Formats: sequence, C-alpha cells, structure tokens
Amino acid sequence: MTTEQVTEQLTGDALEAAVVHERLRERHAAAVMQTYGPAAMSFVRGQGTALFDGAGRAHLDFLSGLGVTSLGHAHPAVTVAATAQLRQLVHVSNLYLTEPAIELAEKLQQVTGWFDARTFFANCGATANEAAIKLARRHGLRQHAGKVRVVTLEGSFHGRTLATLEATGQPAKHTPFEPLAGFVDTVAFDDAAALRAAVTDDTCAVLLEVVQGEGGVRPVPDDVLVAARQACDAHGALLIVDEVQTGIGRTGAWFAFQQAPVTPDVITVAKALANGLPIGACIARGAAATALEPGEHATTFGGNPVTAAAALAVLRTIGEQGILDNVVARSAQIRDGVDAMIGVEPLVTGTRGRGLLLAVTLDAPVARQVEQACADRRLLVNAVAPDALRLAPPLVVSADEVSLALTAITEAVRAVAEAQA
Ligand code: PLP
Repeated sequence: MTTEQVTEQLTGDALEAAVVHERLRERHAAAVMQTYGPAAMSFVRGQGTALFDGAGRAHLDFLSGLGVTSLGHAHPAVTVAATAQLRQLVHVSNLYLTEPAIELAEKLQQVTGWFDARTFFANCGATANEAAIKLARRHGLRQHAGKVRVVTLEGSFHGRTLATLEATGQPAKHTPFEPLAGFVDTVAFDDAAALRAAVTDDTCAVLLEVVQGEGGVRPVPDDVLVAARQACDAHGALLIVDEVQTGIGRTGAWFAFQQAPVTPDVITVAKALANGLPIGACIARGAAATALEPGEHATTFGGNPVTAAAALAVLRTIGEQGILDNVVARSAQIRDGVDAMIGVEPLVTGTRGRGLLLAVTLDAPVARQVEQACADRRLLVNAVAPDALRLAPPLVVSADEVSLALTAITEAVRAVAEAQA
C-alpha cells in the first residue's frame, strides 16, 4: 500500500502507526537489501509480552520474535546483566579468555545433564549448525575418507549458510543457489524405514529437529527419532538435534530431546539463549566433544562476554522462577481453548506442537488471512503453513494474556470465514 492508500482507509492511532510504518518501509526499500518479504508493521519499544508501534499502541506478542524473546521484551534480569557487562568488558577475541563464556558453557553442562559436554559458541542458529556439521565431518573423516554425508528430513530448517541451506529439507530454498555441494540425503520426516535406509557407512551425521518449527510446527514421530539414533550407532555417525527453535524451555523442558526417547550426541541452540542478543551454541558430548581440534573452527564474536552474560541471566531466570511449569500450564490452556473451538467456530481443526511452540490448524489454506485478522486485533501470530498459524508466546505469558489471545483468534476466524462466505 502507498502512504496515500493507507491514509484513505485508516483513522486515529491506526493511521498514525501505518504512516510511521510506511515511511520506514520506503527507507528500508531504498537502503536495505530486499531479502525478506514486505514487513507488515514496525515497532519502537517492547515490554514483557507487549510490542508498541509508532503510535504507542500495544500489540500482544505471541511470536517472541520467532521464538527468541522467551522471557518477554526488556526483561530486567537480562538488561541488568548485559549492561553491567557492557560497562566492564565487551570483546577481547578468542586469543584470550573471559569468564562469562566459560560460566555459560558450565551452565549448559548442567541444563543438558551432559557433564562431559563441550560447547562451541557461534553467533546464530545457522552458524551453530554449521559448526555441528563441520564437527560431524571431522568425526567421520577420522573413521574413513568419504564419511561426510549428512541425512536430514523433508520440511526441516537448519539455516541459510550454504551447508545448512543444503541440510534444510525445503527444495525451493535451494533452487536459487544450485548447484549445491551434494553431501546431503533427505528423507520424509515421518518415515523411519526410509531414514534407516538412507544412513550408510558414509554418513557422518543425522541432523533433525524434534519439532520442525519453520516446517509447520510438526513434531517428528518417536519411531523416526529412535531409527535415527539406532542408525547412527550402527554406522558410527553422530545424531545432531537442532534445538535452535525448540531449546531453552520452549517445549516445556530445557530441551525438546529431553522429552523424546533418544539422546543425541550434539545439540545446537541459538534464538532464545540470550533473549534477543545474537548467540548460537553447538554442544557436544562423548567422543563428539573433542572432534574439533585447535585451529579447525573459529568465529570472531563466539563467546562474546555481553551475549554470554545475557544468556547466563536467561538460564538463571528460567531455572529460578518455575518458568518451565508455566510453559506446560499455558500450553494446556491454549490447547484446551482451541479444542473448544473445534466444530463451534469456523476453520479451526486443532493444534499441534509442544509446549509453547504450537500451531493452530485450519481446514482451509487461509492462515495468512487469519494472521492479518489477528493483527487487526493487535495479536501477533504468523502463518507458518498455508493452513497453520504459529503461536510462540513468551514463556512467561500469563493466563489472562492467553485468554485475550484465544478471544482474538476466535474473532479472527469468524471474520475470515464471514469474508469468504
Ligand atoms: N534451525 C532452526 C530449527 C531454526 O528454526 C532456525 C531459524 O529459524 C535456524 C536453525 C537458523 O537460525 P538463524 O536464523 O539464527 O541462523
């Protein structure tokens, strides 16, 4: 929409917010590479579960910046820890040691329960997975030449670097960059037999999510997880679980693998680890912990003291404040609320997912319209598939906020169904 069209349709605060957004959108288009689809809104401030737009209106954030701001916006524990570290020491490079990253790695040993684990600090989800793939390759190559293949699942999402893009089971994302290196074998996300068949002596790792986030909030069946573990053991490969979206409490446990029937050799985390500051981590146990040797992998900002201090505050806060219990309770509240809509409200067929990584499923490919109708009611959710709406609220969301969101979703599906009739 142009500024003139926006002006014709809106009034009051909504008009003011739209005009602020439209001005930013024009500047963005003129200065920032257009690698993303057009943004629907702009925000200037966040507090807890609320995001405030250019007119000062609050929007209920049920996306948490795609599973990142799990403690809510501007959480005081994170702000205090990060600002104290900012004042003290920001960066020294990996030529020297600083304590926050070491303490964070120790804390990650505790929450994984892997006391022999070693962590490589990266900058985001893709670079955590890139580290895991390189680690698995070194583990494989120590066994025999050519043991470099990786098995992944259709619908998976592991990042946008060339290796993680290839490991992402979404061919449309590959097309603009082909030819890719050709080291990945991709199997259906729910076919244990196909996975067993795909893992060979040349496989160095199976890489998967326990709940596919970007792939539509789809839990991977337990028999596929078990097949992956068994196939890795049979062929000397590593099982890597990508916990970038599921980790740090999102599914109601510290990590989704802790609710699954398998223990991986390596996990990767990012998104929520520092509640919005950029960080990634590749955490490996057993033989995998020492697969990478000095000089084999590195990144300038890895283990940055400020992000590490923020991440420590996140882990402490989740551990001390019973936040995982809140995830379980609010998840049940959302599921019950959505279940009560089935057959009563239009479009809604149920939920899938785990903890506070949920999708509301619809009986028609109108998730985008429902997303917009929710946004009109100042509830932020997103269409993660044509027929599924992703809900990933902050883990600290209250029962009242969940009730507000359920009301907005009810009104939204009614409005979309009415517009279609
Ligand atoms: N892995 C998973 C499961 C993700 O959901 C994402 C991002 O959505 C990534 C990896 C990539 O993370 P990043 O965007 O931080 O590189």
